[in-house]
This record gives sequence, C-alpha cells and structure tokens, in this order.
Amino acid sequence: MTLPTVALPSGISVPSLGQGTWRMGEDRRRHADEVTALRRGIELGMTLLDTAEMYGDGGAEQVIAEAIKGHRNEVQLVSKVLPHNASRSGTIAACERSLKRLGTNHIELYLLHWRGRHPLAETVDAFETLQRSGAIGAWGVSNFDVDDMEELLAVPGGKACATNQVLYNLTARGIEYDLLAWSAEHAMPIMAYSPLGNDNRMLRHPSLQRIANARGVTAAQVALAFVLARPGVIAIPKATGLDHVAENRAAADLSLTAEEQAALDAAFPPPRRKQALEMI
Ligand code: NDP
Repeated sequence: MTLPTVALPSGISVPSLGQGTWRMGEDRRRHADEVTALRRGIELGMTLLDTAEMYGDGGAEQVIAEAIKGHRNEVQLVSKVLPHNASRSGTIAACERSLKRLGTNHIELYLLHWRGRHPLAETVDAFETLQRSGAIGAWGVSNFDVDDMEELLAVPGGKACATNQVLYNLTARGIEYDLLAWSAEHAMPIMAYSPLGNDNRMLRHPSLQRIANARGVTAAQVALAFVLARPGVIAIPKATGLDHVAENRAAADLSLTAEEQAALDAAFPPPRRKQALEMI
C-alpha cells in the first residue's frame, strides 16, 4: 500500500510517515549507516525528512544532503531555526546556512524549533521574506501549545502557519485534550515527534508488548499505528537500523482494532484535564 498523505495548508502533500534525524550527524563513524538508513526509507516512500540546525550542530543536515543526492525532487525537507537565531535577520541567516548544509536551494517546510525571546512577529516576517525569495515553501512552528498558537494567529501573517510539530506518543497524550482538536479546526496538520518514545523505554511496556505479540507485530509498530490513526497527524520516527526502517514503514499499513485501541487506552490513559504541552 502506498503511504497516505496529509495536505499542508500551503498546498503540498506529504506522506503521513516521514523520517526524523535527531542524533544523526554526530559521529563520523555512523555517517554511512545513517545515510543508508535514510535512503532506504526514501525508497520505501518515507520521503518527508525532518531535521534542524541544532541536530549534530548541522551534521544531521549534511547526512540528509548525502542521502538525497540524485533524489532531491522525490523528498520534502523540514528544518528548524533555533529560538535564539529567530530574529528577523537571524532567521534568514540560519536558513541560508541550513540550505548550504542540505545542498539545496529550497526547504519545503521551515519551523521555529520552540518559542524564545524574539517576538513571533519578527520570526514570521522573516519566514515571509524567505518564502518570497523561494528559499522555503512554507513555514510552521514546533512545541507550541494552544495559547501559543492563539498568539501566533494574532500576529500579522501568523495564520499562514502550516504545521505545529509536537511531542506525541502513547506516553505523552496531552495534546488529545485540546491541541489536536484545535489544530483540526484550523486545518493545520500536527507533526508527531518522538512517536516511539525517543529512548525505547516505552517500547518495553508489558501491555504494549502483549498487544504487539498477540497481533504478530512489534511494539514499535503498534506505537506508530496508534499515532498514525489520528487524522491530520504526521509521524516522524528516527531509525538508523535498516530493520527498524522497514518495520516503521510496514506500521503504516497496520490498523488497530477497537479492542487493541481500548487496551492501549487502559495501559496509557488519555488525558482527562488540560496538561501543559510536554517537550523533550
Ligand atoms: P523516536 O521516538 O523516533 O525514537 C528513536 C529511537 O527509536 C532510536 O533509538 C531508534 O533506534 C529507535 N527505533 C526506530 N525504529 C524502531 C523500531 N521499529 N523498533 C525499535 N526501535 C526503533 O525519537 P526521536 O526523539 O528521534 O523523534 C523522532 C524525530 O522527531 C527526531 O529524530 C527529530 O527529527 C524529531 N524531534 C523533534 C523535536 C522538536 O522539538 N521539534 C524533539 C524531538 C524529536 P535506531 O536509530 O537504532 O534505529
């Protein structure tokens, strides 16, 4: 089955399952494996590649540059500006550095990594300049809770925000209380980061393992299927293991039954009240 797609407000469609790159580009000895993993993922249709100037101090963007050689037109790149760089001129300079490291002249989606001291209006203004020059296709934010989003929408041009990338997995379901519905109402897709829980502790949860074993799949696949079942949600797992890459792709074809979903709710209860947005 081909991967389902999610339409961004800017008009482009991206696969609902992409690839993360945090912790890539930090160690030359892992470089070849990281490139190979991303390439394999692209071959399998996971063409949305998420990175940031922060990851490996730009090293992750360089890993991507090598992985997409000869495939630029098949992939959609997402990168992020660090909050302390997100002034009017700083955002533009940061984007230019990212473009250089990525070996391209266009980033499909450029995000503010999290809120910092620079006024949102300045960052949005810089995003608009980058859009006009063709350096970026669309812009968005990351780690924004509902109140942050409301503030953003009140800023000139803020309504053009294409996505909000936030922590979302079985052990971090706070957004189900409000942000998920808010985003749907505003036709703004959510990019779920750390969908596997980041460090594999979540994947060892006995209930998750039981559900996975009964279905004949892995805990990671159930965890991903859970996130992907939400309309308008894009998951961006990071995988360097080729077995992990293949498993993650196959998870997009897995649909959980009502019983499995109920068992997950029992083990990882959904929020009953407002929780401040978690971030890692
Ligand atoms: P993930 O939840 O994607 O987990 C990554 C870990 O899971 C790695 O150790 C990986 O191992 C392992 N893994 C991958 N696939 C499988 C599998 N099928 N079975 C078992 N283990 C598996 O964590 P991340 O925090 O990396 O989140 C994903 C991406 O989201 C990041 O890489 C980054 O791009 C983005 N992100 C954005 C943030 C933001 O503030 N905007 C914050 C955090 C992440 P291995 O590599 O060995 O295959």
